[in-house]
Amino acid sequence: MDTTPTPPMADTPEARRYNRIKRWLGMADAVIGFLLLVVLLVTGWTARLRDWSYHLGGQHYFLAIFLYVLMFSLIMKALGAPLDFYAYRVERQYDLSNQKLRAWLWDQLKGFVLGLVFSVVFVGLIYGIIRIAPQRWWIIAWAVFVGLFLLLVQLAPVLLFPIFYKIDPLNNDELRERLTRLGERAGTRVRGVYEWKLSEKSKKANAALMGMGRTRRIILADTLLQNYTDDEIEAVLAHELGHHVRRHILVGILMQVGITFFGFWLTNQVLRYALARDWFPSLDPRLYDFANLPLIILVATVLGFLLMPAMNALSRRHEREADLYAWENIPTVGPFVSAMQKLAEQNFEERTPSRFVEWFFESHPSIHHRIAAAEAWARNRQSAG
Ligand SMILES: [Zn+2]
Repeated sequence: MDTTPTPPMADTPEARRYNRIKRWLGMADAVIGFLLLVVLLVTGWTARLRDWSYHLGGQHYFLAIFLYVLMFSLIMKALGAPLDFYAYRVERQYDLSNQKLRAWLWDQLKGFVLGLVFSVVFVGLIYGIIRIAPQRWWIIAWAVFVGLFLLLVQLAPVLLFPIFYKIDPLNNDELRERLTRLGERAGTRVRGVYEWKLSEKSKKANAALMGMGRTRRIILADTLLQNYTDDEIEAVLAHELGHHVRRHILVGILMQVGITFFGFWLTNQVLRYALARDWFPSLDPRLYDFANLPLIILVATVLGFLLMPAMNALSRRHEREADLYAWENIPTVGPFVSAMQKLAEQNFEERTPSRFVEWFFESHPSIHHRIAAAEAWARNRQSAG
């Protein structure tokens, strides 16, 4: 076997440009959201929205919350819509999307309604709890959040994912057999492998581990199943199985639970501090005034932004662990390496992003790093054996 390391393949200027545009779009979206929150608070428009909501809702508290969240979501969507559309155009321009405008608009609508439902339920619960227990609300809200979050992780593959994509049990005996063998060697059993009909929308390929308990499953994009050899697909399956064996979804959930505990505590502190010092005179000093919602979201947003590098670092670590698991459980790393090359090509990924970009933005190690690590591992094993 040839063991000389593969030199990094240079990224094309188009791939660099595509990824740069995507990053800028992501940042612009975050900045617009941040500015909207600040403007609502500083100008007092949030209080005006609250007054309209009460007026339209006949002074009913929860109806008013619903109307407030609806108006807030519509404003947010309207401001973000040009960027969303631009992002869609970019995917089309780079020939990565198959989606017609109508289908895209339909997805946007479904996403908006789904987001609205979650927001209304969650915001309604938060302020309901604040009204009942103004001192301890943040602990109770956190516990409720954890419960809902666990429910969502469990239901996502069977309830949420199918809203946007078709998934069917994988209809390929050879591959299912290989996965069963992989699983048996690991002393584990993944309940299902599903084919994800991604090709209706995108030309990219992907695979993932999803769900919890009875809904735990590996999903493989049909775009992957069509264009990759069985050995390459086995390498991808082994990687996803690695996430399962190493309990990465559980670790992710525990992290989320810990961070949101701190997040709710911090939100309560900031709310009380800001209200006590009358930072935003249009807000009612009582905590249950839902006009303070932008401040709650602002705390969550800033916290999420500050934690992004740490969360990405954890994710990259999980990816490295899943890669290692894959190499240990497939006959040679060759198909893993070629699958990585194909994925980079097909998804227009940068194989060698800058160190800063990888550190701050990327949830996966760069393709170049993954391939180099696989080859180094294979060399080591060869010299050890
Ligand atoms: Zn992974």
